[in-house]
Amino acid sequence: MRSHRGALVCRTFTVRFSHPQADVLVPGGAAPEAALRRVTHLCVAAHADDIEIMAQSGISDCIDAPGKAFGGVVVTDGAGSPRSGPYASYTDERMIATRREEQRAAARIGGYAIQVQLAHTSADVKASGHPGVAADLAALFAGCAPEVVFLHNPADKHDTHVAVLMRCLEAIRLLPPGRRPARVLGCEVWRDLDWLADADKVALDSGRHPDLAKKLLEAFDSQIAGGKRYDLAAAGRRSANATFNASHATDGASGITWAVDLTPVTRDGGPSIEAFVASLVGRFGSDVALRLARFA
Ligand SMILES: [Zn+2]
Repeated sequence: MRSHRGALVCRTFTVRFSHPQADVLVPGGAAPEAALRRVTHLCVAAHADDIEIMAQSGISDCIDAPGKAFGGVVVTDGAGSPRSGPYASYTDERMIATRREEQRAAARIGGYAIQVQLAHTSADVKASGHPGVAADLAALFAGCAPEVVFLHNPADKHDTHVAVLMRCLEAIRLLPPGRRPARVLGCEVWRDLDWLADADKVALDSGRHPDLAKKLLEAFDSQIAGGKRYDLAAAGRRSANATFNASHATDGASGITWAVDLTPVTRDGGPSIEAFVASLVGRFGSDVALRLARFA
């Protein structure tokens, strides 16, 4: 296992991330740049534990298929997280360190190719045009060629999640068209996506490897110790999504994470994210109104 504080380093290539507390873990021990380059499934999330809530299907894909590699990126330092129980007296600094170690543990448990924690404050991520955030995300997206990228969804109700999504979309759009990820998905964390019209839903099979999924969610003890059982909630949502799904397109998955395909937004000439989301909400509204009208 190899860890580099603040930098991706190998013999021929160095990316230095902007925050001095940025953290890179390569559980398999390869050079970080090489580990990043072989990532096929990339998740860029706001906080430690978001990856394990939203991208279980990608983690499973990489475990199941030789040659696939999962990469995790956490953009913020998690300083503002609520704390209770044994963590109630923790300072922000100690909480940051704890969450970083929990994320590193999850990366080892999940067999990730690489785990990067950029350690930005939420305020810096929310500031459009912050040069450090932009440079770090540009370096990460330029350093790999994933077939699928898991991001937060644009209807999420957590401000930092939406800000991270916006910064990621900006970074992807700045890549040359031929270097942009083949598929970009927005996944549910804070606010689910069950409300999407069925045609707008992407079903991610998160029911595989349930024991691993449980261990991954339980790695974040500082987040669940105070009674916020994200581990149970995430597992329950996956199960509920599978049970209440009317579509036949899921091959009987025991767990589903809903996502929306954001790829059109990343393409030249594609819709703005605002217009894209407005059309999703419009189709949801029409579906409800039409059903009511049928039985009026
Ligand atoms: Zn989060």
